[in-house]
Amino acid sequence: MNSAAYDVAIVGAGIVGAACADEFARRGLRVAIVDRAFVGSGATAAGMGHIVVMDDSEAQFALTRYSQRLWQELRPELPDEVEYEECGTIWVAADEEELIEVRRKGEYYGKLGVPTEVLDSQRLKFLEPNLRGGLAGGLLVPEDGVLYPPCAAGFLIERAQKHEADLRLDAPVAKIGQGRILLNDGREFRAETIVNAAGAVAAELTPGIAIMKRKGHLVITDRYPGFLLHQLVELGYLKSAHSVSSDSVAFNVQPRRTGQILIGSSRQFGAENKDVDNNILSRMLRRAQQFMPGLGTMSSIRTWTGFRAATPDKLPLIGPWPGDKSLFLATGHEGLGITTSLGTARILVDQITGAKSEIPIEPYLPSRVVKEEAHV
Ligand SMILES: Cc1cc2nc3c(=O)[nH]c(=O)nc-3n(C[C@H](O)[C@H](O)[C@H](O)COP(=O)(O)OP(=O)(O)OC[C@H]3O[C@@H](n4cnc5c(N)ncnc54)[C@H](O)[C@@H]3O)c2cc1C
Repeated sequence: MNSAAYDVAIVGAGIVGAACADEFARRGLRVAIVDRAFVGSGATAAGMGHIVVMDDSEAQFALTRYSQRLWQELRPELPDEVEYEECGTIWVAADEEELIEVRRKGEYYGKLGVPTEVLDSQRLKFLEPNLRGGLAGGLLVPEDGVLYPPCAAGFLIERAQKHEADLRLDAPVAKIGQGRILLNDGREFRAETIVNAAGAVAAELTPGIAIMKRKGHLVITDRYPGFLLHQLVELGYLKSAHSVSSDSVAFNVQPRRTGQILIGSSRQFGAENKDVDNNILSRMLRRAQQFMPGLGTMSSIRTWTGFRAATPDKLPLIGPWPGDKSLFLATGHEGLGITTSLGTARILVDQITGAKSEIPIEPYLPSRVVKEEAHV
């Protein structure tokens, strides 16, 4: 007889935990979601909300594209406050060398069914008149979009609650494993399956997970309607995202429905505190102005930081944790967790219910990165 209070208990009510809660609850499982603070209070509140297909690896492409399709299917149900806009991404090529990458990327996406348009210098300037002149071109990916992550997480949690999921907020978890969840205040409850979706701090609950915090800064401006129409990312962003040794910045700007512009992005390992680092912030803003000089005249409203959960091979950890049959991971999404939350939830629930997944799950299984000191 099943004596556990829940079929599944999810630790973490960020976008990933929220998507998992929704997916499990809609399949009729008894779900609890536990968070030490409130819904979307971690990286989800700090993220940019770019729903983007990326192709660093086949596995990254598969999960981002699958997830983007799931967002597109969900779109009619999303409330207005989620601000889903299919504004498209333009990968901006500064020179001829980057144009070669534009063509490669366009061909790769095209072969796998993702529409793109290769832009020459004039067409780029026509689509985004506030970019500086002299850029070589770009790649438009029209199905990419943006949304407002905390409200998306809130929507998924509410939908899970409509399917009887139990939400426990302000409830820090001290320990998980062997079907038990122990809260800091000493209360304990049981679940057949526990999902660690605690983001960048997931290793505090499951020692041995190979996750490093990767700090990022963002700035939001006042309202400048019509100044920016697509999410613009310099192709050099890919070099920045790949760098594992040094701090890096890249031009990455996003139009919000309000007319505000979200300016990113930076990546830092080894920076543990949440304070704004003025040195990296000014590097980031200088980089943005090199591509869009007009940004330099704008007023900014707020600057903040957040922590991405980075794994050694830049793929998330989705699946069973070796050595504890009750424990599953859904973490390590680095800079793509808003995009890939829905795909993560689907392939996790498939694993737990024994269903066949639409994409191969092997690249994401946590067993590939278990540290030697892990308790296995
Ligand atoms: C600057 C920046 C820009 C980004 N831009 C994008 C983007 O454009 N597109 C994209 O797809 N992704 C982006 N990301 C990445 C994205 O934000 C994350 O991958 C995603 O939010 C991770 O969600 P999560 O649910 O795994 O983690 P989190 O949102 O961090 O949620 C984890 C939750 O676990 C809870 N928790 C932790 N420990 C405990 C405990 N002991 N007990 C109880 N609860 C606990 C926390 O309170 C938190 O709510 C960006 C990230 C940053 C930092």
